[in-house]
Amino acid sequence: MILFSLLLVASTFLAMVIFVKLVVQRKKKKSISLIKTPTAIDSTQEDIGKRILVFAPHPDDEIIGCGGSLVKHINNGAHVTVVYVTSGDAGSLRHSKEELAAIREKEAKDGAQVLGIHDLIFLNNPDGYLEFHKQKNIVEFINIIREKKPHIIYTTHPKEQHKDHATTGEIVIDATYKAAGPWFQETTGQPWFVPTILGYEVWTPLQHVSMVEDITNTIDTKIQALKEHVSQIKDISYDEGVKGLNRYRGTMTGQGSYCECFEVIRKH
Ligand SMILES: [Zn+2]
Repeated sequence: MILFSLLLVASTFLAMVIFVKLVVQRKKKKSISLIKTPTAIDSTQEDIGKRILVFAPHPDDEIIGCGGSLVKHINNGAHVTVVYVTSGDAGSLRHSKEELAAIREKEAKDGAQVLGIHDLIFLNNPDGYLEFHKQKNIVEFINIIREKKPHIIYTTHPKEQHKDHATTGEIVIDATYKAAGPWFQETTGQPWFVPTILGYEVWTPLQHVSMVEDITNTIDTKIQALKEHVSQIKDISYDEGVKGLNRYRGTMTGQGSYCECFEVIRKH
């Protein structure tokens, strides 16, 4: 009887241990998925000598989507070039297209100066109609990629609802494939393979974030740069909206007070 009682106590104890272990394991598993956060991007490492190329469908998109990260790259020694695919000449009815393009190019230069961007390229495509000029731009993008030889490309992610934004992302992806080999007689330069392509968010927040950058220390510079785009901010408070998105990203990823989020389109 004593032996039976001892066995009963022992088996009950064993069952309790297994139960507790299972509960802990379940909790562990749950917490792993909860704390699964995107990894930090390259700018947290040494950027000296790195070349970064940014494609912005319109002036100000580069600041909204990755301005804080760009300042970090620059502070770490990287060289940054921004390509403005259009000059945003359809962004207001107060001015003619020619007037507005000139105003927005000036604002782009002023904003870029605040961030510390090194080079600007204006392609002057018609704002709002980029999807009808894909082939010409694929060639232009290939030539720029081969000339600038970037280690990282930032572009609007291809699922953006704004047509120019989605098209820019699509053209960048296509151009990086075509730029990598000795093909296409209409292009110039030597083949260049871009190891990293990151998609940034402007109008359409990313559904699946695969990379996050803490921009707490550069958010003020980013917003200051965005405020140079007076023609856009006087109608819509993009500065407040963007700061809100970055704050939301920081809170929800737990990576900092303010964060920029990206889709990793390619990383080697
Ligand atoms: Zn835009």
